[in-house]
Amino acid sequence: MKAVQYVEVGSAPEVREIPVPEPKPGQIRLRVLAAGLCHSDWFIMGLPAEAYSYPLPLTLGHEAVGVVDKLGEGVTEFAVGDDVAVYGPWGCGACAECARGRENYCPNAAKLGIHPPGLGSPGGMAEYLIVDNARHLVPLQGLDPVAAVALTDAGLTPYHAIKNVIDKLPGGSTAVVIGTGGLGHVGIQILRALTSATVIALDVTEEKLEHARSVGAHHTVLSNSEAPAAIRELTGGIGADVVFDFVGATPTLETARASVRVDGAIEVVGIGGGTVPTGFGSTPFGVSVRAPYWGSRDELMEVLGLARTGQLSVSVERFDIADAPTAYARLHEGTIVGRAVVVP
Ligand code: NAD
Ligand code: ZN
Ligand code: ZN
Repeated sequence: MKAVQYVEVGSAPEVREIPVPEPKPGQIRLRVLAAGLCHSDWFIMGLPAEAYSYPLPLTLGHEAVGVVDKLGEGVTEFAVGDDVAVYGPWGCGACAECARGRENYCPNAAKLGIHPPGLGSPGGMAEYLIVDNARHLVPLQGLDPVAAVALTDAGLTPYHAIKNVIDKLPGGSTAVVIGTGGLGHVGIQILRALTSATVIALDVTEEKLEHARSVGAHHTVLSNSEAPAAIRELTGGIGADVVFDFVGATPTLETARASVRVDGAIEVVGIGGGTVPTGFGSTPFGVSVRAPYWGSRDELMEVLGLARTGQLSVSVERFDIADAPTAYARLHEGTIVGRAVVVP
């Protein structure tokens, strides 16, 4: 089968021919219908050899949907032919966090060598994918695979970040979204669906800002050193109730710090290497700062539910699997609007 693989530290991903995997007892093989490209793939491919810890070659792709193709011994929860989305942050299944469906915060996964597909385990950017356990599948129930695949991360991650601070976004509040790419453009729609907050979106090009307005941002601001003043002005001098930073670099986190209001919150979703200073006086009084990771299984079900009722729509640029390396290059140069999705 064809698979998009990271082969050597520092090299570009390649499309390679590898054997079709067989499901072991308890596992499920999917024929992949669509797989999304995430900026986190570039993060891991940008790590130097001493910091890179996954096996090589690594099949990429931690956003995947597919059709159940073969059941490992003992699997009864799904049948061949079922369309499913993959819940990616695999945990141990036995701890208190996993019992709550919050496998993204499983304290045992790393030490047991359990890794998400595409982020340590063979990923979904291939013709077939092995899913370790039926609990990591959610029925698509009629959703279009290409339109829905990014909801498993680019939808789930902002959803989880927003749910955490939903109490800070009542009527009349303001939410700032920094970075309106894969995650950010879905985040704007989730904010509009779940809250009555005014949404201010920041990005670096007019094209991205136009797209942000088209998916529901009330105001857009170019992301530069003048952005905090613009946000203050749009909020009557008060600042934003919550800032969601989907970039997480030093300048964007400085924008977050400088534009959040007293008792507000900063959710640092992007892994751009920046930090927010904490300690008395370093942010407005009462500000909480959190760096969330992915989301829980029930939240994935909720996100898919929002899409089914037409309240979320991912802007997709579709690529054949042979063109996945081009799609990655485009993601890296910042010219994808919405999410790049590979169809094997
Ligand atoms: P993306 O490339 O699709 O989107 C990033 C967007 O940020 C682009 O629109 C880009 O133009 C914009 N941008 C870049 N520099 C900017 C700046 N200085 N100011 C404002 N906007 C800027 O990436 P993505 O796949 O949406 O991922 C976003 C970030 O979230 C990445 O860092 C990714 O690794 C991270 N991520 C984190 C989690 C998590 O669980 N915490 C999950 C998925 C992705
Ligand atoms: Zn991701
Ligand atoms: Zn666990």
